[in-house]
Amino acid sequence: MRILITNDDGVYSPGIAALAQAATEFGEVRIVAPDVEMSSAGHSISSSRPLTVKKTPIGSMDAWRVNGTPADCVGLGVFTWDNNVDVVLSGINLGPNLGNAMWHSGTLAGAKQAALLGLRGIAFSVPTPEGKHPDFEVLKPWVKSVLDLLIGIPELRLVNVNLPVGRPKGIRWTCQSVRHYDGKVVQAKDPAGRAIYWYTVVPIEGAEEQSDLYAVQHGMVSMTPLRLDLTDHEQLARAKSLEQIRFA
Ligand code: MN
Repeated sequence: MRILITNDDGVYSPGIAALAQAATEFGEVRIVAPDVEMSSAGHSISSSRPLTVKKTPIGSMDAWRVNGTPADCVGLGVFTWDNNVDVVLSGINLGPNLGNAMWHSGTLAGAKQAALLGLRGIAFSVPTPEGKHPDFEVLKPWVKSVLDLLIGIPELRLVNVNLPVGRPKGIRWTCQSVRHYDGKVVQAKDPAGRAIYWYTVVPIEGAEEQSDLYAVQHGMVSMTPLRLDLTDHEQLARAKSLEQIRFA
């Protein structure tokens, strides 16, 4: 099995090394990741400038850095590996990708790009409270358990995995928490007194019990199967039925 690894924190993040090390048990591993941090880059691609790929081995593992986004890295990584990749793993992101934050996530976009290409994609993220890095040695066996489970279910094309803070208590299937959005703009001043603005996140409380956010807040590893189809099928059916009435 050919496993392509990417992330949005950049090729030098400790999270991508941990994920690649955990993945070596499952097949041939190759790392293609952004040369700088691309967190919150979402699913953007670089269509108005060329991309370069430079070799940057990580330990004994083959790795390349790209001057692009996570989605770029997956596109290039698959193309330069003979268009012959089975699964793309993205992460382990330093920071959670839960609920509506999924829309902004470059980590998840790496996995989504795999699904768009007809491959399988799995994203991994972990919270970093107060900027503290997690103990990846504690998390690695859990990442391996998740990979063992998910790789064994070929119907799963795209899965968003979030690990909790500290030693996990277990693994749980979840849905995306959609009750709240945590993005917030705050205003500050630059040294010259001019207004500047930062995007930040506010803590979310009261998440749905079956959701990804609830699971991670309660110390569980969260696995959310996702789909690429954004169509609201319920509203589509309703709109069509209304139209039938109108044109009757
Ligand atoms: Mn990131």
